[in-house]
Amino acid sequence: MKKFIFLILTLLFTFSEPALVHSATPSISFIPEFPLQGEPVMIVNENVKLADIASTTISGKLLKLFVYNDKPTAFYGVDINKKSGDYEIKVILKNGTSFSKNLVIKERKKIEEVFSIPKKLGGDTVAGQKSLVTSLAKENAVLNKIPTSQKIFWKEKFIFPLENPIVTDDFGYSRKTGGYTLIHKGTDFRAKTGTKISAMNDGVVSVANVARNYGKHIVIDHGLGVMTFYLHLSKINVKVGDSITKGQVIGLSGETGYAAAPHLHLSVRIYNVSIDPVKFMEFFK
Ligand SMILES: [Zn+2]
Repeated sequence: MKKFIFLILTLLFTFSEPALVHSATPSISFIPEFPLQGEPVMIVNENVKLADIASTTISGKLLKLFVYNDKPTAFYGVDINKKSGDYEIKVILKNGTSFSKNLVIKERKKIEEVFSIPKKLGGDTVAGQKSLVTSLAKENAVLNKIPTSQKIFWKEKFIFPLENPIVTDDFGYSRKTGGYTLIHKGTDFRAKTGTKISAMNDGVVSVANVARNYGKHIVIDHGLGVMTFYLHLSKINVKVGDSITKGQVIGLSGETGYAAAPHLHLSVRIYNVSIDPVKFMEFFK
């Protein structure tokens, strides 16, 4: 009897496995299919197991893979200043075979708006503009050095950091301040002072600090290069090193730093490349 069952099982596996595993050839898909400069891309390896992949690269640069929706997946952040055009994504399997597909990056339309400096930061004077630019460079230098965990901290979808996400200022337009042009590398959401701000996903607090322009701000590392930035807060509830769960209230919104009115500025970075947070959220609809 045991031998008979074994035989049946062997037959079942022999005949069903090739159909399940080898019926479709491995391929690559992109979400969105044609990203703009400044947008995130989800690179999905189809019909292949993570364990069978030796490497996935973009223009020869290694991408870190994780399993999402049962598929080996990588995030890629298209820098807003990256040249539009074709970039080769190549997957090499451990069995020596490989396949590739070009990621086509489209040009983003440049939008420029005049933006003034609030009185508390010196107003629209040459001195005010200079100190804005030099202090921003210093703050960015600190935030560009945050290390990311090689372990992924999240499993499920990201969520918006506030209950009623109404965009007041989009990602990616140029703010002209006197002789300087600063790109808005995040999304602003309507939030009256004291609005609860929650973590977009599980992670670890990398930064909980106060700065001249970013005000009271928090950075959460979600692992494998994905970080979320919450700026201009009135209150910080967490400290560096804290493990955070998705939806946990990490602080309250405000208008500290370079903010003309109360709002939440949200940035999302993929390996230090700021991308459009609203586009990022479209992955998790
Ligand atoms: Zn902003």
